[in-house]
Amino acid sequence: MSDSVTPGGVPGDAGEGTRAVRAGLPEPVKYEPTLPGPVFAAHYHLPGEPTGPYTYGRDENPTWTRLERAIGELEAPGRDDVETLAFASGMAAISALLFSQLRSGDTVVLPGDGYQALPLVRAQLEAYGIEVRTAPTGGDAQLDALDGARLLWIESPSNPGLDVCDIRRLADAAHARGALVAVDNTLATPLGQRPLALGADFSVASGTKQLTGHGDILLGYVTGRAGEAMTAVRRWRKIVGAIPGPMEAWLAHRSIATLQLRVDRQAASALAVAEALRSRPEVTGLRYPGLRDDPAHEVAARQMRRFGCVVSFTLPTRARAERFLEALRLVDDATSFGGVRSTAERRGRWGGDAVPEGFVRLSVGAEDPEDLVADVLRALGESAP
Ligand SMILES: *Cc1c(COP(=O)(O)O)cnc(C)c1O
Repeated sequence: MSDSVTPGGVPGDAGEGTRAVRAGLPEPVKYEPTLPGPVFAAHYHLPGEPTGPYTYGRDENPTWTRLERAIGELEAPGRDDVETLAFASGMAAISALLFSQLRSGDTVVLPGDGYQALPLVRAQLEAYGIEVRTAPTGGDAQLDALDGARLLWIESPSNPGLDVCDIRRLADAAHARGALVAVDNTLATPLGQRPLALGADFSVASGTKQLTGHGDILLGYVTGRAGEAMTAVRRWRKIVGAIPGPMEAWLAHRSIATLQLRVDRQAASALAVAEALRSRPEVTGLRYPGLRDDPAHEVAARQMRRFGCVVSFTLPTRARAERFLEALRLVDDATSFGGVRSTAERRGRWGGDAVPEGFVRLSVGAEDPEDLVADVLRALGESAP
């Protein structure tokens, strides 16, 4: 195989859509499907010495292998020194990285405004004797917390506040102090941002959101340079058993074929919705990194290739936000984000996020943008005052 051809047979200079549709595909075999179906196996035929690769179902599965190659080809195109491990959920991947890399006495820097389960993770890390520092994502505030840290955890754009930090700048500063750097790439997806190319050691994400995009499976992954650290992540997966089901892994791989179509469509529509919201007097705190005057736009434009599908904003009161969500017809009131069907929710209903009562996180799906904009504006009107 020549150097300029990736494992799926895709030329090294192919576009992202081409890479997405072919990512992780095996070499063609006559009479076999293009993407072989899920392999359901707790164990494999294994006469003699157990040299692998496929021995027992908690260690390895060929359906995961293909998915992991696909994700790796998008997170780190053209690099064959990088390895990806699939997990049962985003939290399984996040926990695997943190708990396999950190020891009692280590210090980790987390974002203070990240995913809502991070405070639970923090409590568990502290119970194991790991010091946890937090700082906000915006303004690269984590820079001031790095002295003596073993690991820096970045979430950019942050969920749900959509702040962005300069990943390259933070990674350089962390590496200068001997710390490892992980980026939660859930919101951006590998087509929106490539943390490894920006200097991070690991890209970690929930595949439950836009990567798979249909709101029907949970999945997670860690991508990093093959070596000691990834070996420890793999060992953690084996010990804890937080493995994806073969059916989920196969559905995820199938979904990645449309990733570029979905992220382009959803990002364009999210921008249209954000621009429509900006003209409304009852909307404050509007955030979308793709808006030219968004506080995060300048940094985002430097390190992101697409700005995602999530728009956040605040309505004057909790009651107004509830009426707005109820009045929407094309947007389901539901948590999570990134799916082909638009969803929105009042984040304050969960507690945990430091957001106003009227704060709404809206995930823009693959519907026609004119229909969505009309639905959102109509619902705003009907929910007045
Ligand atoms: C949803 C989410 C997670 C957790 O993923 P699960 O698949 O729900 O376990 C982690 N980080 C971010 C930014 C998320 O949005």
